[in-house]
Amino acid sequence: MKKFTKIKPLTKYILNIKKKVKKIGFVPTMGYLHEGHLSLIREAKKKSDIVAVSIFVNPTQFGPKEDFRKYPRDLRRDVKLLKKEKVDILFYPTAVEMYGTKGINSKNTFIGVPELSNKLCGKYRPGHFRGVATVVAKLLNIIQPDYAYFGKKDFQQLVIIKKMAEDLNIPVKIIGCPLIREKDGLAMSSRNKYLTKSERNDALILYRSLKEAVLMIKKGEKNTDIIINKIKNMIETVKSAKIDYVYIVNPDTLEPVEIVKKKDVIVMAVWIGKTRLIDNAEV
Ligand code: AMP
Repeated sequence: MKKFTKIKPLTKYILNIKKKVKKIGFVPTMGYLHEGHLSLIREAKKKSDIVAVSIFVNPTQFGPKEDFRKYPRDLRRDVKLLKKEKVDILFYPTAVEMYGTKGINSKNTFIGVPELSNKLCGKYRPGHFRGVATVVAKLLNIIQPDYAYFGKKDFQQLVIIKKMAEDLNIPVKIIGCPLIREKDGLAMSSRNKYLTKSERNDALILYRSLKEAVLMIKKGEKNTDIIINKIKNMIETVKSAKIDYVYIVNPDTLEPVEIVKKKDVIVMAVWIGKTRLIDNAEV
């Protein structure tokens, strides 16, 4: 595995490989890797000759009161996991490398996809998707992959990145990969580390309520209000839980729907204690 912290030598290396090999697959992450991340890497391996992974806890996607400082990090462990997966390139830049020595300020260029970013999580995390779209665009320019892989776990993020890449004519195919869960159904997330033992148990209500909703839909219920009420009622039985939102949305526009159709997505963000979790299920 070739490791880089600097953009220039990485770009030189990439341009060289692009002359020689066929396809580069890219998986951007914030590290503290789990099976969800590894599933993206394995998917990337299938189509590409070279797989590149980035680890960068991107400061511009965290709000001033969010967990940027305490976000879990363990580069040593991550490197071991990546070597085991036979990843070819790891890029783990510093914030200075990505945003310059003057730090992040209003002189920087930012990318916004406002329509898709202002709703759902964007309402509760202003500026979050602007930071995400910007860092992903930068990473795509640096790595120049043929394919880039994103998890459906972050459904809104995937939709926004697809739109951003399309709008900016970035020559990359954005590929959405399945949401990976723990055996008991909890969606894998680096942030699950924050949960205490009892909160870890409480957090199962997200998956349970989604499963119940999918079952209702399978049995013929199409009325969104009825389904969402059921989900909310289930979640509200858990003391440590506080709902930010629950919607059933169109997968392209992220607009809430009144009558559920195939491919719509049930999306939710729920606090369990001090940890904000997101989850979703495709209908
Ligand atoms: P993160 O490190 O949380 O920024 O995630 C990096 C990538 O891994 C994103 O594309 C996420 O959607 C994806 N990812 C995170 N958790 C999961 C999961 N449980 N299943 C599938 N993909 C995931």
